[in-house]
Amino acid sequence: MATQTKSSPKNTKKTGDSASQENNNGHQKMFDAVLSRLDTAAKKINLSDDISAILRTAQKQVLVSIPVTMDNGKVEVFEGYRVVHSTCLGPSKGGIRYAMDVDLDEVNALAAWMSFKCAVANLPYGGAKGGIKCDPRKLSSGELERMTRAYTRAMADVFGVDKDIPAPDMGTGKKEMAWIVNEYANIKRFTEPGVVTGKPLTIGGSQGREAATGRGVMITTLEAMKVLGLNKKSATAAVQGFGNVGSHAARLLHEQKIKIVAISDHTTAIYNEKGIDVAKAIQYVQNNGNTLKGFNGGTEISNAELLTCDVDVLVPAAIQNQITEQNAHDIKAKLIVEGANGPTTAEADEILSEKGIHVVPDILANAGGVTVSYFEWVQNRTGHYWSEEEVNAKHDKNMILAFENVWFNSKQFKTTMRTAAYITALKRIGKAIEYRGKY
Ligand code: NAD
Repeated sequence: MATQTKSSPKNTKKTGDSASQENNNGHQKMFDAVLSRLDTAAKKINLSDDISAILRTAQKQVLVSIPVTMDNGKVEVFEGYRVVHSTCLGPSKGGIRYAMDVDLDEVNALAAWMSFKCAVANLPYGGAKGGIKCDPRKLSSGELERMTRAYTRAMADVFGVDKDIPAPDMGTGKKEMAWIVNEYANIKRFTEPGVVTGKPLTIGGSQGREAATGRGVMITTLEAMKVLGLNKKSATAAVQGFGNVGSHAARLLHEQKIKIVAISDHTTAIYNEKGIDVAKAIQYVQNNGNTLKGFNGGTEISNAELLTCDVDVLVPAAIQNQITEQNAHDIKAKLIVEGANGPTTAEADEILSEKGIHVVPDILANAGGVTVSYFEWVQNRTGHYWSEEEVNAKHDKNMILAFENVWFNSKQFKTTMRTAAYITALKRIGKAIEYRGKY
C-alpha cells in the first residue's frame, strides 16, 4: 500500500493539465471559495495575518493507494485521501466521501469547511475530511467492504479517538462506519467505538444521528424564517438532493407544515405545486434502488429548473457548485439554506446578496450532523447512552445557539450570514491559536 504524506498548501496556482482538470471539476473553485470567504471575514475583524496564514493551509494531507481484489478476481487500485485541516480546537473531525470526482483539492476544501463548521457549532473539534475516488453504486457490497477495510488500514495512524475521527459523507453511511470501527479494532486489538461516528445503533451509534443533518437544516430554516418574518404556514420549499440530508430535511420541513413543492436526485427532479407527499417519495426511493426516477408524485422537471423554482425556501442538499454566477440571477427563493457543502460559489454569493436573498451558509445549516456526531463520541467515551428525545433536545438547543451567534454577528458587522458565520468561527479558532501560542 503506497502512502504519501503531503504538507504543501493547496492555495498555490497550477498550470497545464492539472489546472484545467481542477477547473473542470470545480474543486479549485471550492478551495478558492474557502479562501475568499476567510479573507472577507478576516478583514472585517482585523484578524492577524499570522492566524490567516495558518488557516490557509492544511496541517496534514495523506494520499494512499488502495489495491482491492474485485469480485472478478482482478485487482483494482483506488486513490484514498485524508486531509486534517486544523486541530486547534481539538481532535479533527470530518466525513469520508465515496465519489468519482474526489481529489485532493476537494478534500482540502471540505476539510477546511469542517474546521469552520465545528467552530460555528462550538464543538471541541478541528476539521478534517477523507474520501476515495470510486463510484460506490458500481461496487458490490463485498468490494465496498474490502475497499473500506483497506482504507482504514492505510489510515490507522491518522485516525484516533483523540486524534482524527471520521464520519459518513456522500456515498457512505452506517455500514461503512461499522466496517471502519471493526477494522480499527482488529488493528489495535481493542474496541474504540469513538474512533468513528455515524455507526449503527447496536455498535455504539447515537439515536438521532442519521437524521441529524436534515434536522439541523430544519431548525436553522425555522430560525431564519423567524428573524426574516417569513410565515411558515404559507411557505413553500424546494429541496435538491434526496439522500441522507435532502430526504430528512424535506421530511422534517414537511412535518413543520412547510409545503415541499419540488424534490430531486441525480436521476430526476419532481415538481408539484400542491405539495409532494414526502413520506411516499422516501418509501418510493427505498423500494426503487435508491433513486427517485419514475416517482409519480408530480411533474418531471430538470435539476436546473428546481433551483430557480418560485419558492420561499431553497435547500440545496446534493453536491457543490450548484448556485453559480450563471444561475444566481434567476433564483427566486427568499431564503437559501445550504444542506450540502459548498453548493454556492463565491461569485454567486455577491449576486444573491445584491438580490436581497438570504443564505444560511453550509457551515451553519448542515452542522447538525457533526453536532450529533460529537454527542455520539461523548456517549461512546462515557458509556452512557441517551434517548432520541434527549439527543434531539440537545441538538436543537446547540443549533439555535449557533444560529443566534451568527445572526448577532451579521447584525453587528452589517454583513451576510455567510461572512458572519466565518467571523464566528475565526474568532473562536483565532483565540485558540493565540492561547496555544505561536512559536
Ligand atoms: P447522499 O449520498 O446520501 O445523497 C446525495 C444526494 O444527492 C442523492 O440523492 C443523489 O442522487 C443526489 N445528487 C447527486 N448528484 C446530483 C446532482 N447532480 N443533481 C441533483 N442531485 C444529485 O449524500 P448526503 O450525505 O445526503 O450529502 C449531501 C451533501 O450534504 C454533501 O454535500 C455532503 O457533503 C453534505 N453533508 C452531509 C452530511 C451528512 O451527515 N451526511 C453532513 C453535512 C454535510
